[in-house]
Amino acid sequence: MSDQFKALVLNQEGENFTRQIKSIDKNFLKHGDVTIKVDYSDLNFKDGMILKNGGRLVKEFPHIPGIDFSGSVLESENSKFKSGDEVILTGFRVGEIFYGGYSQIAKVNGDFLVKKPKDLTSKQAMILGTAGFTSLMAAFSIKENEKVFPNEKIKNVLVTGATGGVGSIATVILNKMGYNVTAVSGKESKTDFLKSLGAKSVINRSDFDKDPKLIDKGLWDGVVDTVGGKILANAIVQTNSNGVIAVCGNASTNELNTNVIPFMLRGIKLYGMDSANCNINRREIIWGEAAKLVDFSLLEKSIKIVSLEELIETYPKILKGEISGRVLVDLNK
Ligand code: NDP
Repeated sequence: MSDQFKALVLNQEGENFTRQIKSIDKNFLKHGDVTIKVDYSDLNFKDGMILKNGGRLVKEFPHIPGIDFSGSVLESENSKFKSGDEVILTGFRVGEIFYGGYSQIAKVNGDFLVKKPKDLTSKQAMILGTAGFTSLMAAFSIKENEKVFPNEKIKNVLVTGATGGVGSIATVILNKMGYNVTAVSGKESKTDFLKSLGAKSVINRSDFDKDPKLIDKGLWDGVVDTVGGKILANAIVQTNSNGVIAVCGNASTNELNTNVIPFMLRGIKLYGMDSANCNINRREIIWGEAAKLVDFSLLEKSIKIVSLEELIETYPKILKGEISGRVLVDLNK
């Protein structure tokens, strides 16, 4: 590759935000101590918000977005990495306050990087990305109960926002763990897709979009929620004794109006998922489990691979909840 390379540059001009594919050189990259040739990045909900208007997360413009990437090290001033190492980057505010993965070459703090496990390809790492990493975190939180109390088997798990990145990968992982997954989705046309990922049944989102009772029939031993609001509030009052609700996202709203009764009568647990600041030790363990728990042949059928140019046309769809599965950004396309 010549000294020049392609990157998606987000800029602010007054009230307007522009997105351009520019040819830049390494001097443009101002953060970090490890330089990486990027193979793949991806499109997460947060990327959509950043590409739209910085999402109130980007502090300085011009900016290179992209919260995730996979690739190989070109140059390193960090003792933990050397040229040729294959690496994964998710979160740590890369793509927000630091330049991100929508660039053929990226430079980041080596303390943010995970060495790619041998049993994952660079492409598979980004099929997962932040969405898949969060799904793994959520699935492990739900499974935790079984480890401490082996007689308390988890059977039924609910996944909301199921056609989205986090939801679709959580469906695959929880099915692989042996649980009956019920998917909640607003897209009736995607029922067969969700069943092909491993959902045993699919419920229309409208059934959950109502004011919850104080407590309802206990149906779920675990919940992966990606949307918040009334859907999460209904999931809480339907969670069985000692069940775990992994709160991942706010695709619908930041709001949550609930009550204390299900917590007092059923001992349920609301666990927050924070993928962006998760420490490196946990990251290495979680990434190390990914290949065992994710059937990539299921996910690959629904993947859309885009170039940086095509990403500019695609990103508004994730903000409207119109994407099913994952969008991969191929930096060589
Ligand atoms: P996606 O856009 O891929 O998926 C979100 C899904 O939620 C949609 O596909 C849709 O699924 C559903 N949805 C969208 N809008 C609404 C709405 N208004 N009401 C109800 N459901 C809706 O996003 P991701 O999977 O990448 O992320 C999901 C959420 O998780 C986001 O809020 C994101 O910010 C958050 N997140 C948090 C992380 C963390 O570390 N805590 C990490 C990663 C993501 P369907 O049509 O099937 O209902």
